[in-house]
Amino acid sequence: MKKEKQIVQNPLVEPAKALQFDGQVPDVDHLNEVFTPLQYRERIHLLYAYFKEREVLVTSSFGANAAFLLFLLHQLRPTQRVHFIDTTYHFRETLEYKRELTERFNLTVVDVLPDLQQNALTAEEQWWSAHPRLCCTINKVAPLEPVKARHRVWLSGLMAYQTPFRAGLRVFEKQGEMLKFHPLIDLEEAEFLYQFSANELPRHPLERLGYGSIGCTHCTEQGEGREGRWKGSGKTECGLHPGYFDRKTT
Ligand code: SF4
Repeated sequence: MKKEKQIVQNPLVEPAKALQFDGQVPDVDHLNEVFTPLQYRERIHLLYAYFKEREVLVTSSFGANAAFLLFLLHQLRPTQRVHFIDTTYHFRETLEYKRELTERFNLTVVDVLPDLQQNALTAEEQWWSAHPRLCCTINKVAPLEPVKARHRVWLSGLMAYQTPFRAGLRVFEKQGEMLKFHPLIDLEEAEFLYQFSANELPRHPLERLGYGSIGCTHCTEQGEGREGRWKGSGKTECGLHPGYFDRKTT
């Protein structure tokens, strides 16, 4: 089995560099220069030298790949809160999996809910069929906006091997006023699967039924990787990140 990436820089040296910024967020090129050579655990560890915990936003879908990042946070930053975007359209199995991981990793999870009236409209008119972009905007993107405004950096578990779009992302990206942080971006699939199994992390219950990626019930089918998400619609991302719709084929 492939070994984890070699650590080429000692992160214990870096907090001194971080302190030079005296509370100012350094530019994205500097952050990439410092963080890219590191291994994913060191990246997460070092993030908290640059940012206060309350400035870091973590979201989890509690989908097929979620357990690994939550496991790392449990080990490296157990007090970090995790936000869950509850579109109201999740599988019962996802909610059960959320309960299981929350208990196992002693997580503090904050549920983020959509506007109830708008959410009801999406249900009545089944907007996930004719207007999936609008449905995602109402149920995922808009509810997270006020949460994002209270944070400076958004830590997510995107990995390059998952989609061509994700393959183009760096460890840090600037999106609007927010920094996106992808500590797992260069983790290879074989290594990810090895870590999942070696650490005996529980799998999402729908995986054994052939679901490679799991989101809302209306927009998730069985399939390899993310091929079962918004199948046949040309949509590949939920739009939580500005520019993702436009860049989905890059
Ligand atoms: S994934 Fe589907 S059901 Fe869920 S918010 Fe987006 S369009 Fe609506």
